[in-house]
Amino acid sequence: MTHKEEAEERSYEHWATVVSNKAIEIFGKKQVVATGWAPSGYYHIGNFKEAVTCRAIHRELISLGADSYYLLNIDDVDPFEKIPAFFKEYGKLLKPYLGHAISEVPDPLGCHDSYAEHFIADALAIMNDFDVNPDPILTSKLYEEGKYYRYAKLFLEKREEMYELTEEITGSKMEDFFLIQCPKCNNLSAPKIIDYKFIEDKIKVEILCQKERRGCGQKSSLILGETIWKIKWRLDWAARQDFLGVTVESSGKDHGVSGGSIDSSLAIHERIFGKSKLPMLITHGFLTFGGKKLSGSTGSGLPVSKFPSILDPSIFLYKIYRTNLRTDTDFKVEMDVPGVASDYDLAEELYYKERDIEHKKTKEKTVKAYELALMAEPFEEKPIRMNYGQLVTFLQVYLFDEEQVIETLKAKEIIPFNISNRDLQLLKDRIQRAKFWIENYASNNFKFSVVKNPKCDIVKLLDLPVLKELYMALQNLPENYQGDSITQYLYEIAKEKEIKPGNFFRSIYQIVLAQKSGPRAGTLIDVLGK
Ligand SMILES: [Zn+2]
Ligand SMILES: [Zn+2]
Repeated sequence: MTHKEEAEERSYEHWATVVSNKAIEIFGKKQVVATGWAPSGYYHIGNFKEAVTCRAIHRELISLGADSYYLLNIDDVDPFEKIPAFFKEYGKLLKPYLGHAISEVPDPLGCHDSYAEHFIADALAIMNDFDVNPDPILTSKLYEEGKYYRYAKLFLEKREEMYELTEEITGSKMEDFFLIQCPKCNNLSAPKIIDYKFIEDKIKVEILCQKERRGCGQKSSLILGETIWKIKWRLDWAARQDFLGVTVESSGKDHGVSGGSIDSSLAIHERIFGKSKLPMLITHGFLTFGGKKLSGSTGSGLPVSKFPSILDPSIFLYKIYRTNLRTDTDFKVEMDVPGVASDYDLAEELYYKERDIEHKKTKEKTVKAYELALMAEPFEEKPIRMNYGQLVTFLQVYLFDEEQVIETLKAKEIIPFNISNRDLQLLKDRIQRAKFWIENYASNNFKFSVVKNPKCDIVKLLDLPVLKELYMALQNLPENYQGDSITQYLYEIAKEKEIKPGNFFRSIYQIVLAQKSGPRAGTLIDVLGK
């Protein structure tokens, strides 16, 4: 753990509260929270983590009485540098556009006006699924509106300071400040500026479209703004934060390294723009799936758009909000889903005061994370929840028959007979998600099918005395025992009879499932009936 992570762990306040209070202390009530994304590939988990993190801060600012505006900067002037693996078959069509602005590259699938737009619609829909609704602002629009022009002039006027600053921070001098589209071949990343001069309030540039960078070799003379242009990334970032009045922006930890883009941006705010109040450029930990940082351009792994088919989006939000800001989270989709859902249910009990815990810090952070994860007004009364993991067992025993599962849950008084329509709907939603998870993602440890007629040879393999004790134990199983209390009961008996509990449980799995392991024995017996 780093110092910052340790301090966060010690804090009694949720990170969203800490960041928001500090932002209000610096900037007062008017707040602008920003997140950014370049639509050069599918919206991925890293982008998602950033937007979701900023959503929490935006919400917390509002709940602390600030007037917060949440924006998403969509950088559609990014040059198209690489044909992603998932568009490999369109290589011929896309190759001539390498180096062009993604807003000018065609959509190979033909369903949108440009390559960039193909990904934008999808990203906004995903964000909306998670109640992340920043105001989308296209970088191309900001350039068209001339928002960046005075920064271009400023950077050129202060070029010596800029050289010094970039060299001091990054270790290498930034040669060119801009990307300028070649008027002949439209390439954005190939031209190099060979000369410039100020003509009244405009900048006249001489550019050479470099052949070695896929350019056409043409020299051109033009007024900056006659073709697409862009201030290079770190400078563009600072300029945008300045004219949009950004007060808080979160980025992945990699941006926060010494000499990274955050250092550069802050130095530009301070030394080039001459500001004393610097935006809060915070960093968040990585979210990975099975150890992999998913990349939008390779398109590997579980797409963010699939999350809501596995878990209620609020549960995902809760998982992120209950984790420290700077701590990395790895989510193993094949294993972690029932546990994450169960943590959420416990937080809900705490929020509705159906449960209490002594540890004040844990309690406050849990309740705040639950509140922030809500996607609508909270219900008046706590909804009835059916444990996700138990549901996974019920569904497999009853061969995914939703009606039969619900009837059984009622008969076993796990859910009330007069369950409200709202809670019944929540249960049905969870059933659909659990089913989708088992069928598509769950590890084999969670999957089983009940054996109709146990094979004699399996029974023969079992230890007869163990089997006898098991039979007796089940005969004497008290009626009111359910789930884990059954597991506990079997455990006690095994100990009493000096049988290894593992052998006891293995016998159950072998008889019922014809496999060596399975779901919790108590739950299984409970679901099957004694
Ligand atoms: Zn499309
Ligand atoms: Zn050219």
